[in-house]
Amino acid sequence: MSEHVMENLQVILERIEIACIKCGRDPKEVRLLLATKTVTAENIKIALQAGQTLIGENKVQEVKEKYESLKSVPHDKHFIGHLQTNKVKDILKYDITCIQSLDRMDLAQKLHQRLLVENKTISVFIQVNTSDEESKFGVHPDEALELVKQVSELHTLKIKGLMAIGLFSAETEKVRACFKLLKTLQQRIMSENIPNVSVDELSMGMSGDLETAIEEGATMVRVGTAIFGQRTYPDSFYWNEHA
Ligand SMILES: *Cc1c(COP(=O)(O)O)cnc(C)c1O
Repeated sequence: MSEHVMENLQVILERIEIACIKCGRDPKEVRLLLATKTVTAENIKIALQAGQTLIGENKVQEVKEKYESLKSVPHDKHFIGHLQTNKVKDILKYDITCIQSLDRMDLAQKLHQRLLVENKTISVFIQVNTSDEESKFGVHPDEALELVKQVSELHTLKIKGLMAIGLFSAETEKVRACFKLLKTLQQRIMSENIPNVSVDELSMGMSGDLETAIEEGATMVRVGTAIFGQRTYPDSFYWNEHA
């Protein structure tokens, strides 16, 4: 397993580099986030010790379980899963530097209240449902700008970017449309010059579609399976209401 992680990581770094070169981008513009749901702390450590610096978790419970084991290895940790409002207090205990899945105002308010108490701030990405699938979380694209405006008034939350999960489809052009939509929203939001808001980051692209995402402007790709192998749980376990 450990050898596979190293090899697979190398393959992914090459895929990122080739994709960037193909569309004339500097590979340094695209950051790799290791999507580590279900991955053991031991395997995560292998990737971190190989020079990776950024991981993303989907469940508060898993963040908690791996926290002590990973503490000794420097890394940056984002939250990329659906966050229930009753888990807000808990998630803020584990050195998460960015919540990529902010998709509604009640969650923003809960985070803000708690951060005020703790006298802290946190970076957030707004998650947009660009694939128009009922099963996915994220604010509707038509409501994204309004949500950004409302969140911008909560000074503990620093909007840094947008996140989307592309359509699961073998049809590249349909997947591409999801990423293009996120890019369009980014430009629209930037043009508003909203105080306390920067949306430079575009977190999009996963194991199967990272090349397309990079072509469409991703600054961060989130890769799990292609590095750590297949997960035993179906993704619906992470992406449904009970997650
Ligand atoms: C699991 C997950 C990924 C990674 O997906 P893979 O297909 O395993 O690369 C990316 N983003 C989110 C939000 C995820 O939950």
